Amino acid sequence: MAEDPVIVVGAGPAGTRAAARLTEAGMRPVVLDEGDRSGGQIYRRQPAHFTRPAAALYGTEAGKAVALHGAFEALRLRIDYRPDTLAWGLTDGVLLTLRGSRVEAMPYRALILSPGATERIMPVPGWTLPGVFSLGGAQIALKAQACAIGTRPVFVGTGPLLYLVAWQYAKAGVRVRAVLDTSHLGRRVAALPSLLARPGMLAQGLRYTAWLLRHGIAIRTGVTPLTIEGENRVAGIIVRDRRGRELHFDCDAVGQGYGLRSETQLADLAKCRFAFDPLARQWLPEVDADGRTSTPGVYLAGDGAMVRGADGAEMAGRLASCAALRDLGENVQEAEMATLRSDLAPMSRFRRGLEEAFPWPGHLAACLPDETIVCRCEAITAGELRRAALDLDAPEVNRAKAFSRVGMGRCQGRMCGLAAAEIVAAARKVPIEAVGRLRGQAPVKPLPLTARMDA
Ligand SMILES: Cc1cc2nc3c(=O)[nH]c(=O)nc-3n(C[C@H](O)[C@H](O)[C@H](O)COP(=O)(O)OP(=O)(O)OC[C@H]3O[C@@H](n4cnc5c(N)ncnc54)[C@H](O)[C@@H]3O)c2cc1C
Repeated sequence: MAEDPVIVVGAGPAGTRAAARLTEAGMRPVVLDEGDRSGGQIYRRQPAHFTRPAAALYGTEAGKAVALHGAFEALRLRIDYRPDTLAWGLTDGVLLTLRGSRVEAMPYRALILSPGATERIMPVPGWTLPGVFSLGGAQIALKAQACAIGTRPVFVGTGPLLYLVAWQYAKAGVRVRAVLDTSHLGRRVAALPSLLARPGMLAQGLRYTAWLLRHGIAIRTGVTPLTIEGENRVAGIIVRDRRGRELHFDCDAVGQGYGLRSETQLADLAKCRFAFDPLARQWLPEVDADGRTSTPGVYLAGDGAMVRGADGAEMAGRLASCAALRDLGENVQEAEMATLRSDLAPMSRFRRGLEEAFPWPGHLAACLPDETIVCRCEAITAGELRRAALDLDAPEVNRAKAFSRVGMGRCQGRMCGLAAAEIVAAARKVPIEAVGRLRGQAPVKPLPLTARMDA
């Protein structure tokens, strides 16, 4: 009988390098991705008939994008590649997948999860109006479809992606109205020692900011978003600046995002142990230096374990495969793993710097007006959550979910989970870690009613 395969979930930078290392050991891993092409988030490929050159799509990262795409193409005959395939459930050493309408139960010898990250979203009155996008959504529109979210967008939130997306839009010829950052400049200065772990990345971020300023694009730091205005569509945004003044910006679209959160639902279904990360104010799966989780045979790599960016994801993918191979009894040189671990160290320091410089503004959730929608899928407001936390006595978010339906919809809490936890914690006046995290449930993403398993 053939042995169960090693399965890699995600064909981004981490998954590609993980798969490559497995093939070097003579294995033929299954690599599956819900996307139709490899590349992941940062190196997302344009549709087949689009012809924009790599430099236009990936800017300074074009060389790395071309190298990663080339590496994946070179693997095609040595892996069992399954594009358009969603990993939606996981139980007792079996991964459940969906392609088209076909459900498959796939036992595995080892499972390397590299599902990347999604954005941290902070609700604000008006954020459900047409014309409001996540920064990632705005970027995908530009990268994959060559479309802009509006002709006069404002970008609001915090983190390096805020400046990068504004720069990408402005470079593409869009009249960016303003970049509104909730974090204070002083925090960036304080975070410099950690940020200097990757001087090249730091310099690149500064170049984007300088470019935006040189081109007359307003940048405000230390702002508090108050409301996104509009009747049937976005018409403007009001923020409070750090001196307490209200500022109004006309715009026809808003891109918002507050850094990234690891995509951890499959790790949750694999029963991996989680620990609270005070820096990110978030629960993350526990991994050792090589990506091993507390569940034997399950490994995490890339942003899905810890947000360390694309270069870090490539290294972590290779390292997780080394760990899996070693645990399966293959000979892996310690020197290779030691080099990867030490190359990852500055990535971890830099990640710490980013969290310090651009913190998740959890306090904003605590002050949201009662009528603000927090969970878009189920239309649950901040007030309903507060009632669940106080009147119905829900001490943690899963109980608040049962009472209010927050996080029960299509996104399964990926978008609203962090803000919901902040609201419950603030209502009950307890530290954020005391209210726990929304537990992952299968299916992690919606399945069609036609989904069926072959007999
Ligand atoms: C919205 C967004 C925009 C970003 N933009 C930039 C940028 O412009 N510049 C930059 O330097 N960094 C950017 N980053 C960060 C950068 O993309 C990551 O650091 C890097 O791509 C991490 O690589 P990864 O392989 O861990 O994950 P990813 O590149 O995210 O790849 C994960 C892959 O897993 C697949 N996947 C996820 N869940 C499942 C599932 N359940 N079943 C099947 N497949 C699944 C996804 O389709 C994806 O292809 C961005 C991140 C996000 C979330």
